[in-house]
Amino acid sequence: MSSALKEKIKHKAKEIGIDKIGFTHAEPFYDLEDKLHKQKEKGFTSGFEHDVIEERIYPEKIFDQPKSIIAIAVAYPSKMRSKPPRVKGERRGEFARASWGVDYHDVLRDRMDRLIEYIKDETSDETSFKPMVDTGELVDVAVAQRAGLGFIGRNGLLIREEFGSYVYLGEIITNIEFDSDEEVPFGCGECTRCVTACPTGALLGDGRMNAQKCLSYQTQTKGYMPKEYRRKMGHVIYGCDICQIVCPYNKGVDSHFHEEMEPEPEKTMPLLKPLLTISNREFKDTYGELAGSWRGKKPLQRNAIIALANYRDRTAIPDLLKVVDTDPRPMIRGTAAWAISKILKKEANPEVVGFLEEALEKETDPETIQEFQEAIADMKARYDEA
Ligand code: SF4
Ligand code: SF4
Repeated sequence: MSSALKEKIKHKAKEIGIDKIGFTHAEPFYDLEDKLHKQKEKGFTSGFEHDVIEERIYPEKIFDQPKSIIAIAVAYPSKMRSKPPRVKGERRGEFARASWGVDYHDVLRDRMDRLIEYIKDETSDETSFKPMVDTGELVDVAVAQRAGLGFIGRNGLLIREEFGSYVYLGEIITNIEFDSDEEVPFGCGECTRCVTACPTGALLGDGRMNAQKCLSYQTQTKGYMPKEYRRKMGHVIYGCDICQIVCPYNKGVDSHFHEEMEPEPEKTMPLLKPLLTISNREFKDTYGELAGSWRGKKPLQRNAIIALANYRDRTAIPDLLKVVDTDPRPMIRGTAAWAISKILKKEANPEVVGFLEEALEKETDPETIQEFQEAIADMKARYDEA
């Protein structure tokens, strides 16, 4: 296929808001085969990945006669233009940057659809395309790296000098043959900052991670968050940006190219207490367009409770007691009981203990019973100390 078409596509990509585009052949990703199998065997996957490994490696298993893959990158901001006003006593949570603005899946899909339309107009009827973002079969960072968009850092993210790792990635498999672009060499050098800074030790040091240990994954699960991660979660109720923030490639990088990616401060730094009792309708209306809402309100409410505990917010005690008393979901009640015991860490409070003991009598879910028992035991231990 002519390089003139490639140039036209690059030009069009820029016009429709794609910040970087690269092209690569559609040969299998052989170097991933061993890695992906090992990750699965070791239980290092999150379960959110496409589960047929062969389809992640061999483009021909998911597309008829693939010839090339077009990789795209869209840069997103790393700093908010404005933050919500600081009001004494008001505690806010935070969404990680990949959940700022409109859900990037929608933004990228729209960009890719427009690009495909353009390429179709420029080529014959026999051309075909399969676009994907994040939840598709192929491994985004592997495609992007091979297509010359950047290198995969030790934090497992694609890094490109001008945008750092603050980029969303998408790819399009096609039966059009394009010349491959040149790969960018690995640029971490001796640096291991992200590996050291990761609070849970999730990064393995070679670009892979134990996803089960990653706070980004842990904030998206629907059951109890294991206790070892609760304190480490801090007040970030969705995702985690630590291994991006510490990366020298991200220093001073803050791309504000796309209006739909600008965060609304009240949404991305929400007040925590109102989240505890938000209705489904209100949740959908307020947070529905954020990527961070994809698992529904339950994980975010659980995380809001954990964040209040991490703030040691005493003013949240009445709200949390109400959750214990009235919330229909055992995991949410149990997390609230845990949070109460953490907030009242330094005092013996027989009234609250009595309240929790009464609530415990109604619990039937084994995990929730255990959460209550531990919270009560923890608080009672303070009688002895007092
Ligand atoms: S996102 Fe957070 S928890 Fe996950 S690997 Fe990076 S620093 Fe560690
Ligand atoms: S922090 Fe250092 S090791 Fe980690 S991705 Fe950035 S440059 Fe690479």
